[in-house]
Amino acid sequence: MGYPIFTLAIESCSVKVKGPMKLTLFMSNTMVREDVSTPWGECKNCGVGTRSHELEPAEYEVFLEEVIVGTSDAYSAKQWEDVDEVEKYDMVLEAVVMCHRCWSNVQSSFVNMVKKNFEQWSAEVKPHATAIKRAINTQVYYDFTDKQTIDALKILAKKLKEASLDE
Ligand SMILES: [Zn+2]
Repeated sequence: MGYPIFTLAIESCSVKVKGPMKLTLFMSNTMVREDVSTPWGECKNCGVGTRSHELEPAEYEVFLEEVIVGTSDAYSAKQWEDVDEVEKYDMVLEAVVMCHRCWSNVQSSFVNMVKKNFEQWSAEVKPHATAIKRAINTQVYYDFTDKQTIDALKILAKKLKEASLDE
């Protein structure tokens, strides 16, 4: 015999939000779920349905529900209830996704851009600090896989750090 399940109360709770990109400007009690895959979405560039590359994760609002998991039967002398708290989620912000073709295009122009600027940037990091930081942010945002570019950006980031420590 199964137990009846009743929803008793809904209580909001705050949770931490992952990543520097998601500054929870929108809602204070949203979260990113690690336990589910990226929902299907439209490529932010061409609109094709995809979930190849997740640029910004979906955000979920989490709340606790108290659920009765067991009750005494009607004839027992003492009435009792077992209550469990269950986490429930509502998606409040869709993921930002990009199809592999668009992502590859963005990556190859990014790779060329870094390649073209590397000599100049690394010779003088200070005056190019903004451009270097922007490039690093772009790398992180798109999670590009070009090893040479990643290495180049690591070198630049290191130089930039050293230059700012010199002051
Ligand atoms: Zn696309």
